[in-house]
Amino acid sequence: MSGWDESDDRVVSAHEQSGDAEAPMRPQALDDFLGQPEACENLKVFVQAARARGEALDHVLLHGPPGLGKTTLAQIVAHELGVGFRATSGPMIAKAGDLAAILTNLEARDVLFIDEIHRLPPAIEEVLYSAMEDFQLDLIIGEGPAARSVRIDLQPFTLVGATTRAGLLTTPLRDRFGIPLRLRFYSDADLTRIVLRGAARLGLAMGDDGAVEIARRSRGTPRVAGRLLRRVRDFATVAGATPVDRGVADRALTRLEVDALGLDSQDRRYLLCIVESYGGGPVGVETLAAALAEERDTLEEVIEPFLMQQGLVQRTPRGRILSAKGYRHLGLAAPPRGAEQLGLLDPLATDDGAD
Ligand code: ADP
Repeated sequence: MSGWDESDDRVVSAHEQSGDAEAPMRPQALDDFLGQPEACENLKVFVQAARARGEALDHVLLHGPPGLGKTTLAQIVAHELGVGFRATSGPMIAKAGDLAAILTNLEARDVLFIDEIHRLPPAIEEVLYSAMEDFQLDLIIGEGPAARSVRIDLQPFTLVGATTRAGLLTTPLRDRFGIPLRLRFYSDADLTRIVLRGAARLGLAMGDDGAVEIARRSRGTPRVAGRLLRRVRDFATVAGATPVDRGVADRALTRLEVDALGLDSQDRRYLLCIVESYGGGPVGVETLAAALAEERDTLEEVIEPFLMQQGLVQRTPRGRILSAKGYRHLGLAAPPRGAEQLGLLDPLATDDGAD
């Protein structure tokens, strides 16, 4: 397996890692949840209305990149509604019976959180439709001529589905969510507040400038901010360097090889490969994956989204190219870009980089 898969141990990974102690950072109420103003405003209104009517909240779909707070928001919703919370994930539900066991155990108005809901097997998804719509389960029991269908009534519940890939959700499933909410990368200002609050909860003295430095390098992602904060704390504790100011944060993060934009050594290896081996591109993603000894999917899902969002790399019909900003970030002079570099003329450019 590649070193960049979901179980990767990069300090800037947005995926959950075993060392991520979640408890001290996780906000408990909507008012504690910093950032994502649109999603929070909407949720607040719908939660209040559901509470006032004593009904289950409509089903909620949260979509956005990993580490932005989907699980946290689902827990907050249950907390604000004053109901139970049950969590599972798409790949964990293999059989209709697994889903039935979960659904029949829910109490009235409970929140069921299904992470990675786009990975539910299709047969299970169909069972979910009537559960979501009518709070009824239609199950086939037995096989062959002896098979019969049974209908089980469920308590009204709220499904909170989370997905990093909304495009992979089938239309019938997507249509059954009354409240679709999109989470976006956090601004540096919001992440700074999250870092300051996290430091206070950890009992770490933190200056505003130290928090800004950590926030800027956190890739718009609270999970990364929390992890960098804990590593900086370790560094500051050992070095006896508190309160944490900009210099302390910078030294700690530089030691972790997290640069000013939040890129780590693997991101830089990707960028350097485009420059050093392919003259800045265009280079097809398959070629690049082979050169880096990585899976194409890993590049497309783990490495490239942030680099593209930052405008360091561009995707063209003929492959990836390093942008002027990408050259600047590596401390290199960008060559003048003509039609050739843009992949419009070069007949030898690989063609596997198209979307
Ligand atoms: P996701 O489910 O989207 O992958 P999580 O809800 O597990 O993300 O959040 C990842 C980490 O970031 C958790 O430790 C959580 O406490 C923290 N976090 C997420 N959003 C916020 C926020 N708005 N304020 C403070 N911490 C947050």
